[in-house]
Amino acid sequence: MLKRGSTIGILGGGQLGRMMATSAAQLGYRCIGYAPEGDNVSGAVSEDFVTADWDDETALAAFAGRCDAVTWEFENVPVATARAIQQAKIFPAPLALETAQDRLNEKRFVEGLGGRPAAYAKVDTSQDLEAAVDRLGAPGILKTRRDGYDGKGQWRIGSAREAAGLRMPEAACIYEAFVEFEAEFSVILVRSRDGEIRFWDSPRNVHAGGILASSHYPAGERIAAQVTEARELARKVADALKYVGVLTLEFFATRDGPIFNEMAPRVHNSGHWTIEGAATSQFENHIRAVAGLPLGDTRTTAAAVEMRNILGADIDSAHAKLGDARVHLHDYGKAEASEGRKMGHMTLVTLDTRG
Ligand code: AMP
Repeated sequence: MLKRGSTIGILGGGQLGRMMATSAAQLGYRCIGYAPEGDNVSGAVSEDFVTADWDDETALAAFAGRCDAVTWEFENVPVATARAIQQAKIFPAPLALETAQDRLNEKRFVEGLGGRPAAYAKVDTSQDLEAAVDRLGAPGILKTRRDGYDGKGQWRIGSAREAAGLRMPEAACIYEAFVEFEAEFSVILVRSRDGEIRFWDSPRNVHAGGILASSHYPAGERIAAQVTEARELARKVADALKYVGVLTLEFFATRDGPIFNEMAPRVHNSGHWTIEGAATSQFENHIRAVAGLPLGDTRTTAAAVEMRNILGADIDSAHAKLGDARVHLHDYGKAEASEGRKMGHMTLVTLDTRG
C-alpha cells in the first residue's frame, strides 16, 4: 500500500491525467506527469510535470526514480517507454498497452477469450482491401491498426467501387464489416492488485462522427440484457492481463448479443459520469488500485445521469449552463478550442425520479 505523501507518476498529460491527479491529491498522494511537448493540462493540477520525449531514457529514468508507482492516462504511450519502468512499479503491467495498441492484436486476443468482434480482415495493400470488401461485404470501415482515436484513422467504405478508388493510408490497417447495432455501451471495471474486480453500471454511449458525444444511465433494457455477457468477457480480459486499475471495453448491442468493438487499458470518457453519479469514481478507484488501497463502492447513486462532451468553441458558453442545478461542469483548461477537440464535459445528475 502506498504511504500517504507518496508520489504517483502519470504517463500522458491530458484530461484523464488531470482527473486522476485530482483524485490522487484527495487521497494525499502527489502526482508527477510525463509527456512530450504539448498542451499538457494535467500539469496544472500536478506537483510537477516533466516535458520530455517518450524515448528520452535519461529523463524517463529520472522521472521513474522520483515515483513510488507509475500509471498512464494515454493508451498510445510507446510500450518501450512503459517497459523501461521497473516492473514492480508500473500499473497496469505494460502487456495491456501492447495488447490494446494494435487493433488486429486486440481482436485476436479477445477472440481467444471467447469474445466476438465484428468480422474483420488484415489489410496492408489496396489488393487486400478489395479482397476484404469482396469477402466481408460493404459497408465497412477501414481503420489503421495503430494510433487511431476519436474517429481519426478511419474511412467509411460504402461499396467495392469506393474501396477501389480509395487512396490507401501509409499504415497497416484492418477492414471491419459495419455492425448493424441497436445501441452502443461500455463495460468499465476496476481490478485491484489482489485481483478483486468491481464493475460500474454500463452507460449507453452515443457517438457522432466517431467521437463520443454523450453517455446515458440508465442505459435501457436492450443494453441491460447484454451486460452480463459483456462483463464476463471483460473479466476474462482483465484476469488474462493480470490487470491493475480501470479497464474499459466498448460493445455494440445487436440482435445477436454484444459484439466487441475495442478496449481501452485506462479510465474512459464513457466513465466520466462516475465522478458525480457513482459512490466512487473511475479516477479514484484507478488511483486506489494503483496505490494498493481497498477499492471503493462502484454503485450508481443517482436515478439518472447523463454525460455530455463539450467540443471546440462550445466551451465558451458552457459555464452559463450551471444555472441548471443538475449540471456539473468539468473544464479541462485547454488553451486552443479547435474544432472537434474535447475541451470539457458536463454531467447532468437527476437524484430521484420525482424530478
Ligand atoms: P472506434 O474508434 O473503433 O471505437 O470507432 C468509433 C465509433 O465508430 C464507434 O463507437 C461506432 O460508433 C463507429 N464504428 C466503429 N466501427 C464500427 C463498425 N464496425 N460498425 C459500426 N460502427 C462502427
